[in-house]
Amino acid sequence: MGSILRVALDVPLATLFDYLDGVSTVQPGQRVLVPFGRRRVIGIVITRAATSEFPITKLKPIAYAYEDEAPLPQATLKLLAFCADYYQYPFGQALLAALPSRLREAQPASLPRRMGYALTSAATEAGMDAIPSRAVLQRKIYQALKESGPLGAENLVAIASGWRAAMRQMQDKGWVSEVEIEKPAMLAVEPKAAPALNPDQQLAVDSILAAGPGFRVWLLHGITGSGKTEVYMQLLQAMLADPAAQALVLVPEINLTPQLEARFRARFPNHPIVMLHSQMNESERLHGWLRAQNGEARIVIGTRLSGFTPMARPAVIIVDEEHDSSYKQQDAMRYSARDVAIMRAKMADVPIVLGSATPSLETWHNAQAGRYKLLTLTARAVESAALPRVRCIDTRIQRPQDGISAPLIAAMRQRLERGEQSLLFINRRGYSPVLLCSACAWVAPCTRCSSRLVVHLRERKLRCHHCGHEQRPPLQCPSCGNPDLHPTGHGTQRLEEVLAGIFPEARILRVDRDSMRRKHAIKDMTAQVHANEVDILVGTQMLAKGHDFPNLTLVGVVDTDSALFSPDFRAAERLFAQLLQVAGRAGRADKPGEVLIQTNFPDHVLFHALQKQDYPEFAVSLLEERKLAHFPPYCFEALLRAEATHFGPVQDFLERAVRVARTIEGKVTVYDPVRPQMERLKGMERAQLLIQADSRQVLQQFLQAWVAELRALPQGGKVRWSVDVDPLEF
Ligand code: ADP
Ligand code: ZN
Ligand code: ZN
Repeated sequence: MGSILRVALDVPLATLFDYLDGVSTVQPGQRVLVPFGRRRVIGIVITRAATSEFPITKLKPIAYAYEDEAPLPQATLKLLAFCADYYQYPFGQALLAALPSRLREAQPASLPRRMGYALTSAATEAGMDAIPSRAVLQRKIYQALKESGPLGAENLVAIASGWRAAMRQMQDKGWVSEVEIEKPAMLAVEPKAAPALNPDQQLAVDSILAAGPGFRVWLLHGITGSGKTEVYMQLLQAMLADPAAQALVLVPEINLTPQLEARFRARFPNHPIVMLHSQMNESERLHGWLRAQNGEARIVIGTRLSGFTPMARPAVIIVDEEHDSSYKQQDAMRYSARDVAIMRAKMADVPIVLGSATPSLETWHNAQAGRYKLLTLTARAVESAALPRVRCIDTRIQRPQDGISAPLIAAMRQRLERGEQSLLFINRRGYSPVLLCSACAWVAPCTRCSSRLVVHLRERKLRCHHCGHEQRPPLQCPSCGNPDLHPTGHGTQRLEEVLAGIFPEARILRVDRDSMRRKHAIKDMTAQVHANEVDILVGTQMLAKGHDFPNLTLVGVVDTDSALFSPDFRAAERLFAQLLQVAGRAGRADKPGEVLIQTNFPDHVLFHALQKQDYPEFAVSLLEERKLAHFPPYCFEALLRAEATHFGPVQDFLERAVRVARTIEGKVTVYDPVRPQMERLKGMERAQLLIQADSRQVLQQFLQAWVAELRALPQGGKVRWSVDVDPLEF
């Protein structure tokens, strides 16, 4: 045991910092306060060492060690070290950013004292008969305290919601006194009855349990409503029979957590559940974190960031909607919470279940290759909920006016007359226009790689966002001669206004990131729809998820073609996921639903698969495309992004990065720097550079060397850059 502490700090350097320690009891994982420059900052002790690269006389002593707090477990430090390495991000910053903000402050962190009540000796001696029989509540409380010992508010509420008044009377009589309690007692509260599983669900639960406690990745594939959540809950029921075991449940969006929380709380009234997401206040987050770490929380449910929550004894990890892109962090350390969860399960040697109706192609590919075990739920769990009918409207024949075609208007009018609701879905995510022939579906391809060219109208150019190639737009379709070539995706912006013009009497509600920014906006929207105060919903992918609207019987989808032929090779995958989800909105209850999709290409395989709700069919064709094009999952990618107030320095930096890359051994493809669709963002000129490799390992080795050299390049502080490993957005 040396007297030097190696400490991780929240600074953009990939090193640890050495400090002297007088107190020899400080352990790895402990929070410390250390001098750094002229400030004092919070750090985490990683190891203790006997020697330092620096002369010992230069080292400063730590200012304070928070020794009353439990140190972070080794498993958490290891997981974050792995992530920092894999995602090319400074370890100290990765680690400190994963902590609740309270743990980054120079304040001791602890759980609040938990107060409860115990019977006094006077009460025990007198016995329950001393309480008059009409004081029913007091007798109930007496009985409970006698049986289980001291109880806190969490428990007393479960006994009787009006317990406080009765307790006060008992206090006045000197029968109970306030005491500090360690943790809530286990009371025998009846959990909400679990339904009998259908054969698919039963097989899923049985298979996972039969495989035992070790690491294995399961893919639970089933459409919305097929009973995946029920499988998670019954699986947890079995696994948490072990009184020390804990479960981590990741969900993509905070919007969905209240519904899920309610279901879990009803099913697990005796298992402390901790929620961790961005809308909790800082002390709630801290307490949830500490309760997960000390093992008191049996179930942790949270969004992306909660994947790092330390747990005393994780026994299983669930990642719901594993394909959801909100699992990918888009700034700072650009990690995929799903991939991190898999790594965590591997390190902890526990099973992990990925659930989805439309798994990401990476996951599907792994399941096909046998690396993940596939479990399939084939039907909706509730028989009466019929699948909606999906139909395409051929917009080559039924030309839309202002974005909406006549058959869609007719269908909406019908719903209005019947007092039912419609939803109009716009797919606008990550939108880049391509040049498309409406006669033969020819799309301007890149001649140098398998990507599609993006239309840059201002400069009248077509450009490849993958490899940097550019050319003038052709005057007519090279495939069929049609002179009528147009960029995809016109006129959807005005949809809400257009609808108001067509249906002046209808109550229209717009749902997108802008209109839903307010804190309870989503909840209000849901309530409005349920109360039938809305006739037509217009919205983006926000609407696609998880809401159950029984009176919604029509979903109209406008403008899908920009995604079918997007230069972003993941656009079609996302479109399918969204359409399947959005289709799940229609006809959830007893009313059958209908989905109408406007497209120039009704014969596209995506729509065929969608009509049959056949994800595997679609996945096969997509994977074939990806294989031919040599795109993920058949290659591994990293993206170097750079930005500055002027383009010159960005260009210089990326060109230097290319030169450095060419000097590094390893079989990687280094493309030319390109400008993204958003060339300027917030006053910054942007460009990026793509790297591809045949294996994860080759890519990782290359990145280690490359990023180290990039960090060493002189930059004059003008260029901001970052590396995105396994990027999802280009
Ligand atoms: P998913 O998570 O795949 O969307 P859920 O687990 O939420 O599906 O199930 C959809 C609906 O069906 C829920 O209301 C759920 O309570 C119900 N359900 C699920 N499994 C069963 C079952 N075996 N028997 C009866 N109802 C079920
Ligand atoms: Zn190209
Ligand atoms: Zn053509």
